[in-house]
Amino acid sequence: APVVAVVGRPNVGKSTLVNRILGRREAVVEDVPGVTRDRVAYDAAWSGRRFTVVDTGGWLPDSAGLAAAIAEQARLAVDLADVVMFVVDATVGATDVDEAVVEILRRSGKPVVLVANKVDNAATEADAAALWSLGIGEPHPVSALHGRASGDLLDAVLAALPEEAPPETFLELGGPRRIALLGRPNVGKSSLLNQLAGETRAVVDSVAGTTRDPVDELIDLGGRTWRFIDTAGIRRRHRENQGADFYATLRTRSALERAEVAVVLVDGSEQLAEQDLRIISMVVESGRALVIAYNKWDLLDEERRHYLEREIERQLHHVRWAPRVNVSAKTGRHMDRFVPAIDTALDGWGTRVPTSKLNQFFADLVSSHPHPVRGGKQPRVLFATQAGVRPPRFVLFTSGFLEEGYRRFIERRLREEFGFPGAPLDIAMKIRE
Ligand code: GDP
Repeated sequence: APVVAVVGRPNVGKSTLVNRILGRREAVVEDVPGVTRDRVAYDAAWSGRRFTVVDTGGWLPDSAGLAAAIAEQARLAVDLADVVMFVVDATVGATDVDEAVVEILRRSGKPVVLVANKVDNAATEADAAALWSLGIGEPHPVSALHGRASGDLLDAVLAALPEEAPPETFLELGGPRRIALLGRPNVGKSSLLNQLAGETRAVVDSVAGTTRDPVDELIDLGGRTWRFIDTAGIRRRHRENQGADFYATLRTRSALERAEVAVVLVDGSEQLAEQDLRIISMVVESGRALVIAYNKWDLLDEERRHYLEREIERQLHHVRWAPRVNVSAKTGRHMDRFVPAIDTALDGWGTRVPTSKLNQFFADLVSSHPHPVRGGKQPRVLFATQAGVRPPRFVLFTSGFLEEGYRRFIERRLREEFGFPGAPLDIAMKIRE
């Protein structure tokens, strides 16, 4: 969701305004510099458009002087926001500090909505008009406390937001959920398809009007219909294996493009191969949901089973969040576990964490496990937002570069807190030096 940052001197009524926008009382109304707030970001909506409101008042460093602190706040807001709401107390008028903030906002080129607050009655309207002098456009007179004209203000904010990104096309298709069944040759993909499909198989062209590759199959499992991507490629028995690595990779890639979830089949009776790991990496990079299925379980003896656990721990540690099933395409063992595993992965893949919860989480994390001090500096996560789902995508606004170990720690803690089974996470950093 786009980010709207609220900037302004203490006591101009930022938090009251945020509460007014939310239509509920969530922001802490206590506009004193140095007050530490653990929540600064909130999910809001107006006219059907969702956005995130960030109350930058929570970031005021107490050591700096007022002017410096506000300037800092404005710079942060400018970095992370799509639109800045700059709040001025109309009854006080523009101060030097306000002028300094305007300078920063103007240089940024970000859209700014000027809010003339505390215009509680018609008598103070003239105070609002005086704020034209700031030179950043029309002052919107509101009374955050009494709600006066806040609808007009929000209309102005919406008008300044960037165009809504169109949804990804493959999600628009609707219909059955799409599964790519992947794996190197001979792990049992074709056998598994036969087991799963039984009598109910229906072959469909993936693209209307084309009769060529790839051809998908609609398969009923667990009372629902699923679309298995490019099963023609799996069932075709011509063994193009010699030197066909390149084509296999291409095929996997194009199957992943159209799939939502990948089931990577590996041969449990053999050691994990380089190619298995490569396929798993391709899934992770594609951002699709992942399920790992160990096949040929009927061939495993006690010793192999024992060794397998250690092999998984060692080689699949980086994808330990992926649901795993141990099956046999030959005997039909655990065929009923596929659907729950796929559902789990699709759920995790589509999980959205409310912004307020996410920022509560980071506030706790930053205070309980701060980043190590490097070169006299200690980078912090200032604010986080989930930019999307399928897979879950996060943007962290930080005050410096977070080292690899700390980023991994963040991912681990995010998973512990919110789950995301089966979902690769995309965590981006936006650094404000
Ligand atoms: P694909 O290349 O991945 O499609 O693999 P196939 O389905 O053609 O299977 C390769 C070989 O493994 C065939 O000889 C199958 O009969 C055998 N196979 C597949 N699944 C199992 C299983 O669960 N147990 C055993 N014992 N053999 C299997």
